[in-house]
Amino acid sequence: MRHIAIIGSGPAGYYTAEAAQKAFGEDVRVDVIDRLPVPYGLIRFGVAPDHQSIKAVSRRYEAVALTENVRFVGNVCVGKDISIDELLGLYDAVVLATGAPHDRPLEIAGADLHGVYGSAAFVGWYNGHPDFADLEPPLDSSHVVVIGNGNVALDVARILSKTREELGGSDIVSHALDVLETAKTEHVSILGRRGPHQIAMTPKELGELGHLARACPRVDPADLPDVAEDALLEPGVRKSVTCLREFAAYPESFRADKPIEIDFDFFASPVRIEGDGRVERVVVERTALDADMRSVATGETYEIPASLVVSCIGYQTPPIDGVPYEHGRGRFANDEGRILPGLYCVGWARRGPSGTIGTNRPDGYSVVDLIAADVGDGTGKAGRPGLDALLDKRGTQVVKFSDWKKIEEAEIANARDGSPREKFVRIEDMIKAGS
Ligand code: NAP
Repeated sequence: MRHIAIIGSGPAGYYTAEAAQKAFGEDVRVDVIDRLPVPYGLIRFGVAPDHQSIKAVSRRYEAVALTENVRFVGNVCVGKDISIDELLGLYDAVVLATGAPHDRPLEIAGADLHGVYGSAAFVGWYNGHPDFADLEPPLDSSHVVVIGNGNVALDVARILSKTREELGGSDIVSHALDVLETAKTEHVSILGRRGPHQIAMTPKELGELGHLARACPRVDPADLPDVAEDALLEPGVRKSVTCLREFAAYPESFRADKPIEIDFDFFASPVRIEGDGRVERVVVERTALDADMRSVATGETYEIPASLVVSCIGYQTPPIDGVPYEHGRGRFANDEGRILPGLYCVGWARRGPSGTIGTNRPDGYSVVDLIAADVGDGTGKAGRPGLDALLDKRGTQVVKFSDWKKIEEAEIANARDGSPREKFVRIEDMIKAGS
């Protein structure tokens, strides 16, 4: 028998559990441990609430979770309720699938002002993450600044711009929907420190901005390189740039009944954020590209007024005491998924925050190949009963998958009309619904 502990119940965690099941059949016991009482990590708290079809992948994870040899162990915080060393003593393999839930810091003056948030916090707020339920983002002025040219910047700009009706079928939490409905937003500036050819936005997500009920994207045609240069781009980026060209060609009449403008401000790098106790403006410097396509400052600055700034410049994995970590890349130091004897990592904790949800699948399968090679038929460790005894001794209230199903049932029952669920945003409410 092999005993495997997976820390984190997001996509990387469940793909690893699925791979372990396929590789070892009945001869494995997998515990998927999560600090929250609810599973699925990024699917629940990161994927945009209006992208329900993407969230449907959780059904695949549920099929894995419902099998006999895989167990969900929720509401158990590694580092607090149990240490990595204790887990290594109990399991043949411990796999860190902790994702990258922390923001890469925006290292400019004023980034600590009230009203400046990283995307983990802001997205977490509208997705009902318990850590960010009390955020209260100031949406009381006409201008919002979104920093970054990736898909998260698009998610944030779109959610800020959609009407209540457009968010009808989403699972955005009610407290965020109510605040967004009364927001005074008229102008969302998306700052890219490089140009249209350097965006990390995918065509489908970009295209959505062209179909919003009350918002319209604006691209300055002067920012677009000569169209002939698009031929040199990867096909996906070329499609995205084609989308930007369409936005640039919109006639003014198209904006007449769209009170919100989503402005793509390219070659624009934020240099400081100013305000009296709260953000009031962002000072931005014009940039240019050097021969290596890096952004270089030009010395020309201008200001954008804003009551809210959301920095969408990427994420990092939280370090764990005693586990080797690559600070520059925000992930665990690893060799193809191996960290230390018995300790592995997968997904964003291994690679850093890039790729789609499906990119985590091969990660899970390849780490299980390593585990198979390293642990053979098992090393005779205690596994589940050992964990249960330790958590019991410490009085940790474990949330099981069957408890989660009760939480899910209550969330479905509490849903607004047209919405799939109303998420609990407090840990105590989740635990109560599950018990
Ligand atoms: P990302 O794709 O890495 O984009 C980060 C952006 O931030 C880049 O444009 C980067 O510009 C910019 N940036 C970094 N540091 C900066 C700084 N100091 N100042 C200004 N700009 C800075 O990250 P993400 O948007 O957080 O997305 C993470 C991953 O999730 C990606 O793989 C993404 O595709 C995926 N995702 C997918 C979906 C979807 O498929 N629907 C939705 C959301 C997220 P440079 O290029 O100049 O560094």
